[in-house]
Amino acid sequence: MLRTSQTCERCARADFSKAIMRSTPGKDFYYEDFFYEIRTISMFLDREEECFRCNQLTKILRMTFSDIETTSLPECFRLGATSISNPALTRYQSTYFCFRSFERGAPWRYLLPVQARFVDNFSNDHFYHSFGKPISPDTIDYNMFNDCIKLCRSRHSTTCNSISQFRFTTKRLIDCKDRVICTAPNSRYICLSYVWGDAPTENATFDDRSLAEIPQTVSDAMFVTLRLGMRYLWVDRYCIDQNNPEEKHDAIRNMDSIYRNAFITIIAAAGSGSDYGLPGVSRPRKSTPPVGIDSHAFMVMQNPSIDMKDSTWNTRGWTYQEMLLSRRRLIFTDYQSYFQCQKHQTMEQLHKDFESTDSMKRMLGYKHLLPTQEEFFTVDEIYSRLEEYYPRTLRYETDNINAFVGVFRELSDRTSDHYSSSPSGLYMPHQNPHFYGIPLWLDLKLADDDNISWRFGLSLGWRIEKVKNGPLFAHAGAMVKPSFPSWSWASTKGQRLNHDHYRIVFSSRPSHSGEIQDANFSAYVTHKSGERISLSAYTTRADDYTLFHPW
Ligand SMILES: [Zn+2]
Ligand SMILES: [Zn+2]
Repeated sequence: MLRTSQTCERCARADFSKAIMRSTPGKDFYYEDFFYEIRTISMFLDREEECFRCNQLTKILRMTFSDIETTSLPECFRLGATSISNPALTRYQSTYFCFRSFERGAPWRYLLPVQARFVDNFSNDHFYHSFGKPISPDTIDYNMFNDCIKLCRSRHSTTCNSISQFRFTTKRLIDCKDRVICTAPNSRYICLSYVWGDAPTENATFDDRSLAEIPQTVSDAMFVTLRLGMRYLWVDRYCIDQNNPEEKHDAIRNMDSIYRNAFITIIAAAGSGSDYGLPGVSRPRKSTPPVGIDSHAFMVMQNPSIDMKDSTWNTRGWTYQEMLLSRRRLIFTDYQSYFQCQKHQTMEQLHKDFESTDSMKRMLGYKHLLPTQEEFFTVDEIYSRLEEYYPRTLRYETDNINAFVGVFRELSDRTSDHYSSSPSGLYMPHQNPHFYGIPLWLDLKLADDDNISWRFGLSLGWRIEKVKNGPLFAHAGAMVKPSFPSWSWASTKGQRLNHDHYRIVFSSRPSHSGEIQDANFSAYVTHKSGERISLSAYTTRADDYTLFHPW
């Protein structure tokens, strides 16, 4: 047993107590004030036997990265301290620790104080407040999520509660109480966003109305539906008649409305298939007991964004619009659960007073847990969304555009209501906002054919880049797929095994270009009936792009 006084030279210099107690009155404390470079993991592990602190940190490191072999961690590590500001008392601050690597994309993990010691930056006055919340491995905190929903319903009437258009309503829902598929009543329902995976599909027969043998994830979602005080659940395999081609076609093209109209969407972001179940419902979460540093208890927390972004669910094409268009989300991962609506986000491992604070945003590594619909419309929104969507995979290549049409619809719905607020005066046509996936733009001030053609031409300026080693090929002409024309990004999507290494870039965007100097680019489209019309005429047609030739 090592004594606390047995520390190596480097550990003796790193003042953990000072970071935890924040004993630097009169001075604002930033995270750069304390950091402990582990440098090479092997060097650090070697001292485990000789130094009390190295020993302690090795234990914590192993616990924090329990899912990764310690020796396969990035070599260079830093344990840093980061400030927590108190949302009620701005002068009071506390500290949490964060293991961070210098390697890009390498995991960051957090050590959150169970009781954070908040110190007044000027007077050294202090008090304790709960911060990191230990979670129950077996059950999610239903009370907490019911409170989030209640708050969202009462306070976010314009952003989270309005259902703009009932373009399409579902015919069937799962009645979770009686455990049958029923004709959809005019009632609130919950949607499930998940990955079917390798579960046998014969279990998902529409005719099996008794729902006897259903995959664990679906069964768990039914349980959660009831615990949230609701009764009806929508799950694609059970609520669309797979044997009725017309109904199936209709539902696929209107998938966005189904998710947009749902009261909340349950996101199964753990495991790689529907047999996995929801962690915290039928299977335990991966939780670790609190760890002690100088008589203060800390708890280990996964990096929330990595937790979600690494999930199989997040690599699939259809789940993109399911997620983006959902008004409210309840997200299940192996470590904890999260709630997110258009205005609010929180996680189980954080005390509710710190929801939506800067500390939480910093832990997320980005502003949001998952992308949300931006409140203010900008023209570029559609390009950023396409860039997010592009690397995702689809089972059927023919769905490359189908799985994204909801995002086009959402943005065109909004621009037709709010186009006057778009400073550039550009808006997206309501009827046909794209042609084979290429966005179409109309100009409020100058609505002629040359203008729309020219902007269409600009949107053709996309390229595929290899993320690590720069541009791979400028355009996809040589990689034509039969389903989509080579000038559409949809023709290059879904051809590579490892999608993560490629991204799409739209370099010339209509909003980045000034006034049209000399527009002499004209585009016409040909209907399958043989009729040739201008792009602006196309934007008002009831027939969509599939009824037009791609040339
Ligand atoms: Zn040491
Ligand atoms: Zn809300």
